[in-house]
Amino acid sequence: MSDLIDRANDQSEMLLRLALEHQRRTSERNRRPATGGGRMVSAETCTGDRCGEQIPEERRRLLPGVQLCVDCQARLELLEKGQGHHEV
Ligand SMILES: [Zn+2]
Repeated sequence: MSDLIDRANDQSEMLLRLALEHQRRTSERNRRPATGGGRMVSAETCTGDRCGEQIPEERRRLLPGVQLCVDCQARLELLEKGQGHHEV
């Protein structure tokens, strides 16, 4: 009889793990901006918080779909690294 309970526990644990995994993947996908169809359009000016800095033509060409100036990008990456540390 206890065998049956063990099996039930294993299964619910597995389901929980799958649900967590799915949730993590979904939230990661949501963090990226929607690009709708493959062609990435670079922003002419930085979309960073209260920035609005002009993004140089060269940067837009090198980074298709870029939305941030160098400063804001660096800040965002630092922020993401910091958050990533707390995950798991
Ligand atoms: Zn900026």
